[in-house]
Amino acid sequence: MIGISACLIGEAVRYDGGHKQQTQLKQLVDNGEAIAICPEVLGGLSVPREPSEMINGDGVSVWSGQSQVATQSGKDVTQAFKQGAQDALKILQQHDIDTVILKEGSPSCGSTEVYDGQFNGTKRQGVGVTTALFEQHGIRVYNEHNWHTTFHK
Ligand code: SF4
Repeated sequence: MIGISACLIGEAVRYDGGHKQQTQLKQLVDNGEAIAICPEVLGGLSVPREPSEMINGDGVSVWSGQSQVATQSGKDVTQAFKQGAQDALKILQQHDIDTVILKEGSPSCGSTEVYDGQFNGTKRQGVGVTTALFEQHGIRVYNEHNWHTTFHK
């Protein structure tokens, strides 16, 4: 059993009310081989919601208290992002899951790059808030681009 970002299996939970379904990943959930998680919804954020980015850092620095997550209009949503990550981790632990496939680029789920906090489409290397927590707990995090070549069920 693995975990997959809910938006990658077609659940309309993204900030814009849409999804980014990948048919092969949805198939894994339909076959009972994976469960879907959306940390931002678990953290109590609405669908749709204002886009958020990490200011001055990435998920690792959010957990160390050096960065915040904020919406485009400047609302601090750090606590909701952290709560959602912790709730998602609990779900993985309840299912004995140590491998996930998460949506690249997201301030929660990104695993190699995230937006840089200026809301102008620029990315920087880094991980999302949920990915950082998962990796701190030994969970292997892949994304929709690299799971084909590296993922072992
Ligand atoms: S990228 Fe992660 S937090 Fe964002 S909608 Fe998809 S599952 Fe939810």
